[in-house]
Amino acid sequence: MARGSDGMTEYGLGVPLEDAHGRLIGDLRVSVTDRCNFRCHYCMPVEGMPWIPREEILTFEEIERLVALLVGLGIADVRLTGGEPLVRREFPALVARLRGIEGIHDLSLTTNGYLLEAQAADLVAAGIDRVNVSIDSLARARFFEVTRRDALDRVLAGLDAIAAFPEVSPVKVNAVPMPGFDRDDVIRFCDLARERGFQVRFIEFMPLDGDRNWTAEQVLTGAQVRAMVEEVHPLLERPREPHATARVFAFADGRGEIGFVNPVSEPFCGDCNRLRLTADGRLRTCLFSQHETDLRGPLRAGADDAELESIVRAAVWRKELKHRIDEPGFRPPARTMSAIGG
Ligand code: SAM
Ligand code: SF4
Repeated sequence: MARGSDGMTEYGLGVPLEDAHGRLIGDLRVSVTDRCNFRCHYCMPVEGMPWIPREEILTFEEIERLVALLVGLGIADVRLTGGEPLVRREFPALVARLRGIEGIHDLSLTTNGYLLEAQAADLVAAGIDRVNVSIDSLARARFFEVTRRDALDRVLAGLDAIAAFPEVSPVKVNAVPMPGFDRDDVIRFCDLARERGFQVRFIEFMPLDGDRNWTAEQVLTGAQVRAMVEEVHPLLERPREPHATARVFAFADGRGEIGFVNPVSEPFCGDCNRLRLTADGRLRTCLFSQHETDLRGPLRAGADDAELESIVRAAVWRKELKHRIDEPGFRPPARTMSAIGG
């Protein structure tokens, strides 16, 4: 690939987005709001979260323009997230707009499921390909403790509603296991994976909580949870797909799958191909970036696609080699998970 004098790949239509470490970028997470109807304690403080002012939030037109630009530069997978994406007014209309962008191979959503039963049919009609529902406990009291909402039944109804559409596949369930997670929790999640066919994925707690209370001791590692699972059900590891964040295992008897996303204990930065766009139009090249690149300002000032492309390419070129959670002096980013877009 041709290089400019600064070492960066030269621009041009069809030239993929590449960083200085040779990683090609193909995956985008778009946060559509920083607001949320839950207050999961590993994510948001119980109160006092400063919201991004409404006028700073990208409109649907602006999101569509930026996503189309990025898809033109090689992004093929787009996941919509937040905050809670389903609290954004007319959210399915945004899905429909993005579906119209040629070149998106996979258009997916991560949601807490609270509004999913009401919106499932509209989301499917709008063209969503896949949905992940976050459920941290299948026990009502524990779910309430984690999310600070007594909403397990409603979330499970949302999960059932989206699972009723065979065209949305696979449906995954994300859980962040925290200390106190026990054998009963393991059995309930294994049953969900084995009886219902959802791929359950355990995600390690990362230092992105709104309370800034993260400590390494609170991280229940993927290996620890896997050992708990294997006491009940033997597992067989599946080959890792390129850029996959999860290590996926099949239950040895062939009934269902379970996965582990281990960013703290087994970082997967080496082949990270991901970018994030925040709800207020900032490009982030890592969950843990200390630096963001403003796209909303230039966009609203009338920048054309070539100008936006050069801003994006320069930001991507500086994509962090790795996160440094495990290193002395690690500083979490100023924004926490719900404001970045998980
Ligand atoms: N509100 C939606 C939801 O909960 O699915 C989408 C946004 S949420 C920030 C996306 C994912 O990030 C969820 O699966 C959530 O469990 C996860 N998450 C939030 N804070 C986290 C943290 N500190 N460490 C690890 N995962 C976290
Ligand atoms: Fe809201 Fe999702 Fe954060 Fe929970 S994890 S507080 S549902 S944004």
